Amino acid sequence: MASLDTLIQAPEGTKLWLLYVGDMETDEAFVYTGANAGSYSQPHPSEHKRRHLVQISALIEHPTEGLILFETGSGRNWPEVLGPPFNDLFKQVEYTSDKELPAAIAKTGHSIKDVKAVILGHLHLDHAGGLEHFTDTDVPIYAHEKELKHAFYSVATGSDAVVYGPHYLRFDLNWKTFHSDFLEIFPGLTMRHAPGHTPGLCIMQVNMRESGTWIFTSDQYHVKENYEQSHPQARDHDDWIHSNQMVHMLAKRTNAKLVFGHDKETFFSYKHAPEYYT
Ligand SMILES: [Zn+2]
Repeated sequence: MASLDTLIQAPEGTKLWLLYVGDMETDEAFVYTGANAGSYSQPHPSEHKRRHLVQISALIEHPTEGLILFETGSGRNWPEVLGPPFNDLFKQVEYTSDKELPAAIAKTGHSIKDVKAVILGHLHLDHAGGLEHFTDTDVPIYAHEKELKHAFYSVATGSDAVVYGPHYLRFDLNWKTFHSDFLEIFPGLTMRHAPGHTPGLCIMQVNMRESGTWIFTSDQYHVKENYEQSHPQARDHDDWIHSNQMVHMLAKRTNAKLVFGHDKETFFSYKHAPEYYT
């Protein structure tokens, strides 16, 4: 069925790769509000669930705009950058050098040096730490105005200093902000403001010729249960509820495939680089 939301199509020849850029393991309470909580009758739950999370980027080979990277993973030396005790709470696991961002991009036959633009759904360390690869370049770095302001404020005041980091939130990157709730940022690529996890988080939608509609949710949803059960892990609950409704309706209208921020099972149900979608 036709929908206004499928009219904006990526041009003929667009290729899409999903990139596998890291793994971490954490308590389920960090991805699913209320997980592992005790109760009056069972104050100390016997089972304390943990989650293996993946870090994900996407690379788009665009016929007129060149290579576009969506999110970057955490970048180099995640355990050292996080430092104790956070490197134990969000433990890097199953590290292999082929998950470093330049190596993950190389699997597509491209070089990170050929990336023409970077888009961030949000600026937390595990999604934007790889911006360290773009210092000393003029590559434009796109994020929503509200996200960039919140990120710099958080680092400068220490209000949210662990999840945002000063080593990639630098004044000398070529920041490009966008400002509206909806934007066709490049031909065929649309951004929607979806606050909740962070004030400026945006989802990205791509309507591909063969594989159909893709929605990259960033951390509006860490794992599929956040989406399927409308169960948040949100910092602003009301905003998250509003964004959740928007994504559900959009996904239904477009019959979209969703790529959640960190869901391992969903990620591995899709092809990932070097295989690609058209
Ligand atoms: Zn994340």
